[in-house]
Amino acid sequence: MENSKSGISAEKLFKEGLGITYDDFTILDTIFTDIDREEMNLETTLGKDVVLKTPIIASPMDTVTNDEMCIAIALQGGIGCIHYNFKNPDGSLDIDKQAEIVKQVKRFENGFIENPVTVSPEHKIYETIKIGEEHKVGKSAIDTFPVTENGEPHGKVVGILRKQDYSRTKHTNLMVKERMIPLEKLIMAEWPITLDEANDMLWGNHILSLPVVEKNGSLKYLVTRSDLDKNEEYPLSTKDEKKRLRVLFAVETRPEIAYERLEKCFNAGADGCIIDTSQGYTMYERDMAEYIKKKYSDKLIIGGNISTKEACKTLEKLGFDAYRCGQGSGSICTTAGAIGISRAGASAVYQSTKQAKNMKTIADGGIKQVGDIVKALAIGADAVMLGNMLAGTSESPGDMIIDPQSGLPVKIYRGMGSKEANTGGIRGYSKLPQGISGQVRYKGSIHEWVPLIRDGIMSGFHVLNCKNIEDIQQKMYSGEIRFEKRTNSSVTESNPHNIV
Ligand code: GDP
Ligand code: 5GP
Repeated sequence: MENSKSGISAEKLFKEGLGITYDDFTILDTIFTDIDREEMNLETTLGKDVVLKTPIIASPMDTVTNDEMCIAIALQGGIGCIHYNFKNPDGSLDIDKQAEIVKQVKRFENGFIENPVTVSPEHKIYETIKIGEEHKVGKSAIDTFPVTENGEPHGKVVGILRKQDYSRTKHTNLMVKERMIPLEKLIMAEWPITLDEANDMLWGNHILSLPVVEKNGSLKYLVTRSDLDKNEEYPLSTKDEKKRLRVLFAVETRPEIAYERLEKCFNAGADGCIIDTSQGYTMYERDMAEYIKKKYSDKLIIGGNISTKEACKTLEKLGFDAYRCGQGSGSICTTAGAIGISRAGASAVYQSTKQAKNMKTIADGGIKQVGDIVKALAIGADAVMLGNMLAGTSESPGDMIIDPQSGLPVKIYRGMGSKEANTGGIRGYSKLPQGISGQVRYKGSIHEWVPLIRDGIMSGFHVLNCKNIEDIQQKMYSGEIRFEKRTNSSVTESNPHNIV
């Protein structure tokens, strides 16, 4: 077969002893396309019922993934992992901030809102506005409040205050009871009711929010029209069984900090965690994995980073659902120069993933363009983790600035092992930085960028006549998908050239 077909198989491309990056090879168009794009999907699973319709994870880096990124990427079918580099003004670690962000992401979209923000009839409007601002949903303050007798979240409902019932600037000294829709005029639903029935009531009664009460009139849930709208607007969203967006958080290997972080973030509703260390083939990672598996057995647990089949075998035995594959291949990474240990990104993925039978592989590092994602999935990855490709979006932390030299709009992007990310020295035991700080081109919103990435991946899969990720991997392992090594001049040729 090797001789009768164009190119070479993945097995031949990735022979041991040679580091292959995504630039070092291309995939050949050797399979006749007879599927429609409508038949295709990019769905993947990370384990524990966490299904992504877009196989992208936002990396736990402090210039990539905070609340806004987690919300946006989950709405587009991926998932975000909140970084752990939050600090108090005195330089100590702020664990509560990470847990707060988990809560914010979880509150963004709901089916039944379990703990709606409520006020009492005696609250002043200005106090209510303040309470709403303290409980932001995405970028907006909460503006509709069920009113309960005593103001308690599950107290007896006596009315509802909607945004059209008050002004944010005038008459804010009035009391809630003077402006709310009182109980006798209130449309409510009695529990039990299905979400579909509640949505029908919103629609049928031309209302934007529906309190759901117990038989005795105490508030159980709130259902809102905006959740229904979000559901329609973002059909790819990554959600849990309660229709809330899914979110992951990063945790270190040091028990004295990690145990507290795990408790706070899982209590806040996180779906899973990533043990975030550049060196995952250690006793520290093993001990942390054993602890998490025992205490939070229903949660998704992701290990790494590793880049060899030996390390992969160990992580699999430890029972990780998935692992991050890549060491020293990130665009901001200086590990190879600092310690002399690393692996070319594509080689790491192919060699490790062959070993991982019951563990999902997340290709992490060195993915610079959409074609690299197609390549990563085609050589065995179940999903990709992106830092560089997402850092320039409007949802990543930090502001867009104009680079004085080029005049181009950029955002700062830095390695988590860089000097800049480590003021106060929370990470690592080594004093030698393993990352740098730089800038990436501004890319606009995730809501425009991720659909384009999806479109590119779909086009790649279509050329290869693959309906989904499983299909592409089967065809790769059987040798049907063919590869070719690239010379330096072929890399030059495949980028724009000889253009003035
Ligand atoms: P990173 O390498 O930048 O991701 O930073 P880490 O905090 O994961 O730590 C890097 C180094 O510290 C690695 O050599 C780890 O094996 C080691 N390390 C991680 N956790 C612990 C720990 O709890 N105790 C000790 N003594 N070393 C650790
Ligand atoms: P990129 O998308 O920039 O190519 O790679 C992002 C990945 O690089 C992250 O997900 C993480 O695994 C890795 N990374 C982040 N910061 C650092 C760092 O300072 N040093 C190293 N060696 N790797 C980093």
